[in-house]
Amino acid sequence: MKLTTNEFQRLANSPDKNEIVNVLQELIRFKTVNPPGNESECAGYVVDYLRDAGATVATFEPEKGRTSVVATIRGSERSPSLLLNGHMDVVAAGEDWTIDPFEGVVQDGKVIGRGAADQKSGIAAAMVAAKAILESDVKLKGDLIVEAVADEESLGPLGTRYLLNKGIKADMAINTEPTNLRIEVAQRGVLWLEVKTKGRAAHGGRPWVGISSIYQMVDFLTRIKKLERDLSSKKHPLVASPTINVGTIEGGMRINVVPSSCTVKVDRRLIPGETSNDALSEIRTVLEQASEADTNFKAELKVLLSMDPFETPKDHPMVTALQEATMFVSGTPAEIAGEPIYFEVTRLIDKPTSTSLDVVHHEIERKLRRDHLTSMSNSKLSV
Ligand SMILES: [Zn+2]
Repeated sequence: MKLTTNEFQRLANSPDKNEIVNVLQELIRFKTVNPPGNESECAGYVVDYLRDAGATVATFEPEKGRTSVVATIRGSERSPSLLLNGHMDVVAAGEDWTIDPFEGVVQDGKVIGRGAADQKSGIAAAMVAAKAILESDVKLKGDLIVEAVADEESLGPLGTRYLLNKGIKADMAINTEPTNLRIEVAQRGVLWLEVKTKGRAAHGGRPWVGISSIYQMVDFLTRIKKLERDLSSKKHPLVASPTINVGTIEGGMRINVVPSSCTVKVDRRLIPGETSNDALSEIRTVLEQASEADTNFKAELKVLLSMDPFETPKDHPMVTALQEATMFVSGTPAEIAGEPIYFEVTRLIDKPTSTSLDVVHHEIERKLRRDHLTSMSNSKLSV
């Protein structure tokens, strides 16, 4: 349900501008570095805040210390429901900080700390937005669900995936990772594969007795290089081209032994319009061609990870609502963009009608301007 202009303006102006900064600082002070995560104490803060505000709050702790929070504001008709998803865990802080990365220092109008951008700011924005709605007289038609999840940085099973398996879903979802206020409506998918060529070991002094798995792999990789060129001719207006990268290679045992096995790990990225099944078929075809060219060619193929790309239409009501909200708060139109990197937001989708506010940075110091935080909070209120 779209809010009236009057309702939106009242909501957008209602939070104390310092509150979102204070909430973000509190979130940063919980050391939720993954591994090990330890999100429970941070989750407790989120629970208290949203429960005190009047939301119905549930927690899920599939493993000790790995808690995710689900807070719901019930709408009069329950649907269309909207889910705001953010993760509490952060990557390691590293060494090169000039300030305490878990203090949440405000400097020059910016909140600085591990997780300030990725992505406790998104959680803070969702929390303050939910509270503003609860404190207002605005009645939602659909449910608003705020998720603060564990175990995202390692793409683990204990956060968003766990909640999905528990049946927590919505009609629409916004992933609240930072995007510099761009509205990201498309994301590439990912297919990770392991390919192992299988030769026959022999003494290196009599290589004609063996079959070199490394030479087999060279053949396979030469064909992959050609596939890479073919892929680069495909284009998507928001996320560029599909790509393929061979990230690792391992093979052979000793210098004087014909190698019996060689393994590569292949990272295929997909653009909207492609499916991971299509991409898998392409690799199978490459293997078949190699085997037709050399009857000794043998290989095993294993799928390590598979997530399809997604794209939300630019004229989806959620996208236009975000555009209007951004314009209202910042006075400038939001850029519609796509995301070439894979994020957990894809898990939220079982049909391509979700959007993402997502871009990731793993730099040393996360800096987010205070006015951006306020804008992010406000931008959610019109949806
Ligand atoms: Zn993130």
